[in-house]
Amino acid sequence: KRAELLPYKDALSVTKDGKRVEVAANIGSLQQVEGVLANGAEGIGLFRTEFLFMDRETIPSEEEQFHAYQAILEKMGDRPVVFRTLDIGGDKQLSYLPIAQEMNPFLGYRAIRLCLDRQDIFATQIRAILRASAYGKAKLMFPMISSLQELRQAKAVLHDVKSECREKGIAFDEEMEIGIMIEVPSAAIVSDVLAKEVDFFSIGTNDLLQYTLAVDRMNEKITRLYDPFHPAILRLIRAVIANGHKEGIWVGMCGEMAGDPRMLPVFLGMGLDEFSMSASLIPQARKTICELDMDEAKRIAEAVLQMDSSDQILDYLQLLSRSHS
Ligand code: PEP
Ligand code: MG
Repeated sequence: KRAELLPYKDALSVTKDGKRVEVAANIGSLQQVEGVLANGAEGIGLFRTEFLFMDRETIPSEEEQFHAYQAILEKMGDRPVVFRTLDIGGDKQLSYLPIAQEMNPFLGYRAIRLCLDRQDIFATQIRAILRASAYGKAKLMFPMISSLQELRQAKAVLHDVKSECREKGIAFDEEMEIGIMIEVPSAAIVSDVLAKEVDFFSIGTNDLLQYTLAVDRMNEKITRLYDPFHPAILRLIRAVIANGHKEGIWVGMCGEMAGDPRMLPVFLGMGLDEFSMSASLIPQARKTICELDMDEAKRIAEAVLQMDSSDQILDYLQLLSRSHS
């Protein structure tokens, strides 16, 4: 099986009929870049920067962050790296930044909400990423965006940090793309509006599932209800991709669903441009893409969108993936 995947490690991700997509990796630390390169990722679609902030006593300084971001960009060469700004709160806590106990941490003081409240922390991180952007192909992504106002507030902070850098003569990539995660249902629903103000979307299915289905992603008693094949999820994903494309921006996915080979033809058929996953899943995903053509993928996506239950969808996709491998 491994030998069979070997040719796909360094191949391009192109369907039989020539449609090119990007297969990228999710990482949380510099050490993981090794595996990213070994598995032939075309980029890093999600760098979870919060891991730089965790398991330590103090907040990382701008210098420290800058060096970490720069090192990753340099290792990746001309391949893009999507830096997601701090996504703390929910299940992730920092000892030096205590968050008062909440009834519903995942619905609480988390990610962009915390960053817009603590603009000192947010601006420092953005400055570190901007400085690093001079050393590679960096992209910036905001997590947990739920409305246009929130996106505009985050962009205003970025705008101010950029102005400050220009004044001080600090080099950064003026063309750096700005994107948002689509992981809150309200953002998915108004993605037509949000698409006008960013360069890309990345669909975060882990949280999108949790919030759309009202199923805590950490609660083992209800894992059965945490259902990626739910028609509501597939309809939302289709709408997000279509809304992004209507405004001419690219749409990726960095939740766990992006690496599920059963789902891959569906998302390909919906037009997804980038699939970001654990590095070890990349060769299999690329093989699946290289063996499909777009007409077939579109037919599969259409078929699935007509189905009214996740059981039916799962059975159909399971059968299909067995006949393919
Ligand atoms: C997601 O929510 O799908 C995601 C990729 O972000 P995280 O798993 O870090 O919340
Ligand atoms: Mg998330």
